Amino acid sequence: MRTIKFLFSLIILITVGLSACAQKTNSNTSTPTAFSDSMPKADTSLAAKSSNFWRERLTEEQYRILREKGTESPFTGEWLMHKDTGYYTCVACNNPLFRSDRKFDSDCGWPSFDEEVAGGKVKTQMDYSHGMSRLEILCGNCGGHLGHLFDDGPTSTGKRYCVNSVSLNFVKSNAFKVAETDTITLGGGCFWCLEAVFEKLKGVVSVESGYSGGLVANPTYKEVCTGSTNHAEVIQIVYDVHQTSLDEIFKIYFTMHDPTTLNQQGADVGTQYRSIILYHNDKQRTEALSLIKDLSNSRVYSDPIVTSVEAFKVFYKAEISHQDYYENNKNQPYCRLVIQPKMEEFEALFKARMK
Ligand SMILES: [Zn+2]
Repeated sequence: MRTIKFLFSLIILITVGLSACAQKTNSNTSTPTAFSDSMPKADTSLAAKSSNFWRERLTEEQYRILREKGTESPFTGEWLMHKDTGYYTCVACNNPLFRSDRKFDSDCGWPSFDEEVAGGKVKTQMDYSHGMSRLEILCGNCGGHLGHLFDDGPTSTGKRYCVNSVSLNFVKSNAFKVAETDTITLGGGCFWCLEAVFEKLKGVVSVESGYSGGLVANPTYKEVCTGSTNHAEVIQIVYDVHQTSLDEIFKIYFTMHDPTTLNQQGADVGTQYRSIILYHNDKQRTEALSLIKDLSNSRVYSDPIVTSVEAFKVFYKAEISHQDYYENNKNQPYCRLVIQPKMEEFEALFKARMK
């Protein structure tokens, strides 16, 4: 009964937490950008529309540039100095044309890219206007004029897609953002259990089992088992801050072990099984204390939380036989009786967040 009450309370906390996050993200989104976790999609119903249709739909300036092959004044465009991460899309039909990581500073006065999004999103045709011979670039979906493509780019592609800002919109995205990682160290009973759970979480880059929080250098598993080293069995998690969060990691941690039993998890008894958060920075310390306070105030557990929150000092990686233990020893009785039920609980609660 306690477990059921606990799970319901935690799910409510998680739901509230997630919706709060979602609202925060929305309110921070700057206009006119939207946010997309994957590549935006072109509106293909706009592939072959008449001049009259576009005249009504576009602003005068957009019509002049997109439909009459105009050019905006250099150094005036909205996206010239723009640095955010995401996709530049066709302002007329949302076709994803360029990625922000292919944008570079050029002195030409227009947003410049060294590569287009693959798959025919951009098409080209010769342009002999103004007595010049240039390669024009157009939206591969709606045919809107974008700018020109030159062979004088400074990067390895040698290309410079010179594009009018007016032809573009911008959609924020983390879809191709370079991983930015942080590390946290957690103890909550046998490290085999926690390691198995976090190995499955999306956004986790690596999990290692080891020892921390004690005084003896380079301890062995046998020494830690005696309880005399004062080390706890811990896991060290490296995670991508764009794909998971400290908040999510802590909530899973508190779901997957009992933080109210001092120096004990089920049948495992001893200081090496204590509940301990070893924070690596102030943000981790603040969030850990805040969540423990919230869990205590909302009486998720009937007993007080005994998890200690301490500054991380050193991590000793456990012997190789203890790494990926559950994965390599699924038929071992401890794995079947203790770890497997926890994995099933994790899978049921956090299905959408599993790798
Ligand atoms: Zn288009």
